[in-house]
Amino acid sequence: MDNTRRFVVVGGGLAGLASAVWLAEAGHRVTLLERRARLGGRTQAMRVPEVDDLADNGQHVLATGYDNLFRYLRSVGTEHLVEFPHGGALRWPDGRSVLMHTKGIRALPTLFGAHPDASPIERLRALRATLRLGREALFQPADLADITTERWFQRIGMPAKAREALWDWLALGIAAERVDRESAKVFADVLATGIRKGIKGRHAVGIGYPTVDLDTLFITGAERAFERYGVEVRFRAVADRVVIENGRATGVRLADGSVVDADGVIVAVPNSRIHGLLDGLPEHAELYAAADKLGYTPIVSTNLYLDRPLGTKAAMEAIIGGTGVIDEVFDRQRMHRRVPDGAWLYCLTTSGAYEQIHKSNEEIITEQIALLRKHYPAAAAAEVVHAHVVKMPRATFSQAVGTDNLRPDQRTSVPNLVIAGDWTRTDWSATMESAAQSAAKAVAALMK
Ligand SMILES: Cc1cc2nc3c(=O)[nH]c(=O)nc-3n(C[C@H](O)[C@H](O)[C@H](O)COP(=O)(O)OP(=O)(O)OC[C@H]3O[C@@H](n4cnc5c(N)ncnc54)[C@H](O)[C@@H]3O)c2cc1C
Repeated sequence: MDNTRRFVVVGGGLAGLASAVWLAEAGHRVTLLERRARLGGRTQAMRVPEVDDLADNGQHVLATGYDNLFRYLRSVGTEHLVEFPHGGALRWPDGRSVLMHTKGIRALPTLFGAHPDASPIERLRALRATLRLGREALFQPADLADITTERWFQRIGMPAKAREALWDWLALGIAAERVDRESAKVFADVLATGIRKGIKGRHAVGIGYPTVDLDTLFITGAERAFERYGVEVRFRAVADRVVIENGRATGVRLADGSVVDADGVIVAVPNSRIHGLLDGLPEHAELYAAADKLGYTPIVSTNLYLDRPLGTKAAMEAIIGGTGVIDEVFDRQRMHRRVPDGAWLYCLTTSGAYEQIHKSNEEIITEQIALLRKHYPAAAAAEVVHAHVVKMPRATFSQAVGTDNLRPDQRTSVPNLVIAGDWTRTDWSATMESAAQSAAKAVAALMK
């Protein structure tokens, strides 16, 4: 193989970072183009000067089945900065909470009905419906692509309490989309991936979190690798169009009119930014149409610095009966082994935040404090030291009904031009693993 080829990667999010690192590891020359002044894309840390802290743009959790993301973390030397606890907690408005185990035999009661008010009959029904859910995820009924996850739950008879305590929350967490919109097929596909991985690895898929901010996890190690391998990173380099001549990509034209020559190109931008870049591809119209149809789902994250601890039972707690969608509270003291200096940091995430995204920061903060006061007795007297809201209207592409077959393959009709990014076709939903897996596929396709 000719190892002196020069590859250009467009986009410095996880998909672009992983592509650049893996191409460089294989001995190639790489130029990474990033339109902003920083790397990380949708995973990034943000300085909060008011409390002299580094918060994230939104809490990110990982699953044990994130094989490609862990490959990336090994490449950049930060795999040890992720932790998998034994589980999380569910919390109801009256302060009641249950611990939810995700490992070993103790995970079974969680799966079959974690709701504190569920009767033995309801638990049995939940068990039966859960088994059916698993079976139908692996051997899917033909119409799953046409129905919402909510409809699927109704059809298999998932009891309301089991949905409230686990399944609605899990489905929203997996695909960042509300169950009344989410494609049942998307949820089923991810469940099937989890079940297969669980059977292969002989353990249930667990949920974990970084023990550091997202920059330390994803960027610092990548920068070291780039220096080691001589990867050129260009900031504020806005790619305008991939140059295609005689059926081959020969470079990338930037917005300032200059061209970066290339023997191969990986375009790793989100679906919201693909327009124009691939105009030279014969199939560009279909690609752009798919990107548009996938659409977006909003996430609102609130970093609340309180003057006292909330009395959480676990690092990750799901708030049941919140703002209509299910919110999550992440205790940074537990996650980062943080020693608070007058301010305890709690990160609240609302996925599928279609209503919240239109509210002002003040409204969101008031709502979230009220939510905490309802669910945590210790919050009643808590004062807010500082609050930091991050609204992301295009947090991920949407997994609504009708979107499951829209995600494009990494390969294009031009052999040395491939695409990557969480929205391209992988066996995960809109996740960091999808971004990393798309990079692995894109690099493999380019190497061929
Ligand atoms: C608040 C929030 C919470 C989330 N929580 C989780 C979670 O818990 N677990 C999980 O697995 N996933 C989560 N995700 C999803 C995850 O962050 C994304 O799926 C992943 O980061 C996407 O990476 P990417 O490389 O595909 O895209 P991006 O991160 O968007 O990277 C694309 C990059 O391309 C650059 N770019 C765009 N256009 C151009 C151009 N023309 N020229 C040059 N550069 C360009 C952009 O600036 C950006 O840096 C969450 C996302 C958000 C927003």
